[in-house]
Amino acid sequence: MIKKKKPIEIKYDHFSYSGISVFLQCAKRWYLKYQVKPTVEIDQTYFSLGTACHGIMEYWKGGTKKQFLQLMQEQFNEHDVMKYWKPEDVIPMIKNCKSFFDNYLKGKEERVHRELSFNMNVGPYKSSGKIDLIIEPLFDENGELIEKGYLIDYKTSGKAELKADMREQLQLYMAGIKTMYPTWKASHFRFGIYFIRFNDLVETTFTDDDIDAKIIDFERKCNRVQQSEFNKNAGVLCNWCEYNGTEHCQGENGND
Ligand code: SF4
Repeated sequence: MIKKKKPIEIKYDHFSYSGISVFLQCAKRWYLKYQVKPTVEIDQTYFSLGTACHGIMEYWKGGTKKQFLQLMQEQFNEHDVMKYWKPEDVIPMIKNCKSFFDNYLKGKEERVHRELSFNMNVGPYKSSGKIDLIIEPLFDENGELIEKGYLIDYKTSGKAELKADMREQLQLYMAGIKTMYPTWKASHFRFGIYFIRFNDLVETTFTDDDIDAKIIDFERKCNRVQQSEFNKNAGVLCNWCEYNGTEHCQGENGND
C-alpha cells in the first residue's frame, strides 16, 4: 500500500527571493531576520555607496549635468556616502549610473518601470519583490513583437559575472511580472544584471518553461523553511551578518 505523504504544516507563509536566499545561506539568520526581528545596531556605511547608486538609478530621468550632480549630492548626503568611501571609489560608479541611463533608457522613458513591486502566489505561499528596472517590450498593432523589453537588476559589488542565484532571481521576477501582465512571455524579454562598478550588463535568456520550473523549485524551498530547525551555518558569510557577535549569535566563535 502506498503511504500518503503527510501534508506540510504551513507556519511561515510569505517569502521573497532575498528571504529564501538568506535561508539557504544560514537558516538561523533567516529566523532572526524574519521572525524574531531583534533590534541590532547595523553599520550601514559599507552599503551606503550601493544604496546611493540605486537611488540615482531610480530617480534620474534625464536632464542637465547640474541636475544630475544635484541628485547625486542628495543621495550622497542622505546615505552619508563620503563618511566611508573615497572619491576614487565613488566617481567611476557615478559615471556608470549616468552612462547606463544614456545607453539603455534614453528615448524609452514611456516604457520604463523602476522599482516595480509585484505580489504572487506560489502554491500555498505568497511571494513579493521589487524589480529594479523593466523596459516594456514593444508590439505593433497586430501584437507582433517589434523590440524586446528588458528585465534588469542592479548589483553594486562583486564580480561582473552572472551567478546561478542571480539567474534564479531574474526568473522569479519574470514569474512575478507575468502575474501582472499575463500576455507577456519570457521570449519578449532580455534579462540581465547590470554591474554598476564595471559598467557591464551581463545578459541571459530563459523560456517560459524555465520560469514555471523555477516556481516549483521556489515552492520546494519554502517547504524546507516550514520543516527547518533554524540551525546556524557559520562560515565566511558571518562577516556580513548583522547578528554576528551579538547576544543572538556568535558566528564561527560560539556554540549558540
Ligand atoms: S552570524 Fe553566521 S551563523 Fe550566526 S546567524 Fe549570522 S550567518 Fe548565521
